[in-house]
Amino acid sequence: MKPIKIAGLILMMIMLMSTPVYAAPNEQADHAFDNKVVKRINVDTIYQHVYHLSEVIGSRGAGTEGELQTVEYLEDQFESFGYEDVNVYEFTFESGGEEITSYNVEAVKEPMKNHDTGQAIIVGSHHDSVPWGQGANDDASGTAALLEMARVFANTPTDTTIKFVAFGAEEYGLWGSRKYAAAMTPGEVENTVAQFQMDMVGSADAGDLVMFTADGEKNLVTDLGAAAGSRVSELVPYSELGRSDHVAFHNLGIPAALFIHTPLEPWYHTEDDVIEHISKEKLQDVANIVGAALYQVARKDTPALEKSTVAPVPVDYYYEEPEL
Ligand SMILES: [Zn+2]
Repeated sequence: MKPIKIAGLILMMIMLMSTPVYAAPNEQADHAFDNKVVKRINVDTIYQHVYHLSEVIGSRGAGTEGELQTVEYLEDQFESFGYEDVNVYEFTFESGGEEITSYNVEAVKEPMKNHDTGQAIIVGSHHDSVPWGQGANDDASGTAALLEMARVFANTPTDTTIKFVAFGAEEYGLWGSRKYAAAMTPGEVENTVAQFQMDMVGSADAGDLVMFTADGEKNLVTDLGAAAGSRVSELVPYSELGRSDHVAFHNLGIPAALFIHTPLEPWYHTEDDVIEHISKEKLQDVANIVGAALYQVARKDTPALEKSTVAPVPVDYYYEEPEL
């Protein structure tokens, strides 16, 4: 073990012993609002989505038949939850002298008519896998959690627009999120207050949950994630990493973070990234944390973010050296 890690661990233990990690003004009320989302997230449903994406469809490389089946599945699921605003955005990119067509799939949750802050949050995953594998964890897991969150939020009143987006062609160089971000209008960029990315959130053989930002700095999303973790699970540290779809939003000045377990599992980007290595506990934990973080700002009885005195509740969370 490296000395810096021991020092970090000791510091963390001192912090945990000396200060309460969670000091909300009204604990009862906060847990009541978390429960509105957390109690409705069904881990069996998430697991079923992972099964369908990775076993029934299988490999979902960008531009393949598997991707087309995936796009159809996502559309069908979003529509079955009652979303009227479901968008499939086609784009093309070059790889090895070949033009490949891929898709972003989005469901838009509209705010209440009388309680609209005019703000939006993007929740993302990537629906493609590497071409040689089934990508149960990378990233059927995040996409499955995204679908279940979209189902739960479909009939939950919010004062904030929530865009649930499954990006395409992440494995070829973050193409889907880059195309999506590039197509945002200046007004949309201005109004988008947060981007949560879930990529590899279900491996039984990976480490603990970490929130990665592209610049290694805390931001609104990590504040919300840490606070939500302290309420519904455990405190989540933050660290620095690009390499996923949060980067494009960070580059637009939008607070963004990648939720992922590290260190990575041995099956990462192999043909052994299959459902047998997926943990329901991990899936449930991440969906609970991201769902609670999302609802903390999107629920209707909170004011718009810059005026908010409710969210996020500050907690002492710490930087962890990236371990990938
Ligand atoms: Zn991935």
